[in-house]
Amino acid sequence: MLLEEMTMPQFSAGLERTRTVLIPFGATEEHGPHLPLSTDTLQAFEVGRRLAERRPLFVAPAVPYGVCRSTADHPGTVGLGTGTLRALALDLVASLYRQGLRTFILLTGHAGQTHTQTLVDAGEELLTRFADLRIAVLTEYMLAAEAGRDIIETPDDAHAGEIETSRILHSRPELVRGSAEREYPSFPTGILVRNKRRFWPGGVWGDPTKASAEKGARLETAVVDALERLVEELEGQNVEPRT
Ligand SMILES: [Zn+2]
Repeated sequence: MLLEEMTMPQFSAGLERTRTVLIPFGATEEHGPHLPLSTDTLQAFEVGRRLAERRPLFVAPAVPYGVCRSTADHPGTVGLGTGTLRALALDLVASLYRQGLRTFILLTGHAGQTHTQTLVDAGEELLTRFADLRIAVLTEYMLAAEAGRDIIETPDDAHAGEIETSRILHSRPELVRGSAEREYPSFPTGILVRNKRRFWPGGVWGDPTKASAEKGARLETAVVDALERLVEELEGQNVEPRT
């Protein structure tokens, strides 16, 4: 049940079937010279959409912006501050809660550390705010790397590499412009750098040359499977009172 396509009566009827909603979080961020800026948003929304075909589940409109630090200087990256993302997550969940939803999956296609931690922080705050709420915060990438262990050849493939290129070759091939060279950036340990692009010129982390649409299809299904298991577990969780 895609929220953006539903009417008011359809929404009310949907609440009779489930109280679970998935909110896809993405980013508008460089993904090398070959993938669209919306890569993370597309991936998170697509697995939510596919899971909603399998089971009763609301899918909220995707949030197309996130916190992007290491790619902030690369052309095309448009990001949020952590305070904005945190407030956005809190407001969206609070509003959906008010509408009757009780189980929340914050699935992020963008796996930046600061971004993900901001969503976790919002999730922890929501746990204390609403006593009967269940919530999961996870990255789409975490599921893909785990589920794709036997599919992916590239070690430490993290950004616009084998995994993401395969995924977009499968789901939105018309948006892929060729390929890109393999790249592994090396940022200095512990030192914060001003000119981040100097340490990561191509904006790729991994090996896009190993990508294929066929791998992308297998990966996507594996991610949907893993997400389905997670939603089952979350929905089965007792809401225990705090001690
Ligand atoms: Zn990405």
